[in-house]
Amino acid sequence: MGSRHMEYLKEQQEKEAILWMDKAAMVAKRALCLKSKCGTVIVKDGEIIGEGYNAPPLDQEENRVCNKEVSFGKPKYDRTCCMHAEWRAIIDALRRNPERVKGSKLYFIRVDENGEGKKSGKPYCTVCSRMALDVGIAYFLLWHEMGVCEYPTDEYNQLSYAPE
Ligand SMILES: [Zn+2]
Ligand SMILES: [Zn+2]
Repeated sequence: MGSRHMEYLKEQQEKEAILWMDKAAMVAKRALCLKSKCGTVIVKDGEIIGEGYNAPPLDQEENRVCNKEVSFGKPKYDRTCCMHAEWRAIIDALRRNPERVKGSKLYFIRVDENGEGKKSGKPYCTVCSRMALDVGIAYFLLWHEMGVCEYPTDEYNQLSYAPE
């Protein structure tokens, strides 16, 4: 069990988390976004209950906006191009394992062109943080330079809104 505050995992806990990060990196290799390749797995009781990579809606080329420069004067709440890996994983988990989402852990990683995992910066995607919190995911995990950090999802959401 994790703590009530963000915590860098140690020893066995970190080893286990890295195994899930490796699974998320495998999923990220299937990403179709032109700007970044991201993968997410959601884990409950030692099993993956949902997974996702970032891509245009329906994985269809006609829905791609990765390289569109959009400035149309409308209010804009989300400036990203594709379905986020986290959204896809949450939707997948809700479809396949709706009763298991509550209390689960979400592992997120970005990979480079060669499929190697990249270290994450601070939490910033408030769409993902709100959605993860709203569906009852207990912990959001990122792999930082300092190690794998496990954030209680409510704290993750607050930190995502926090100024730099
Ligand atoms: Zn994209
Ligand atoms: Zn996001």
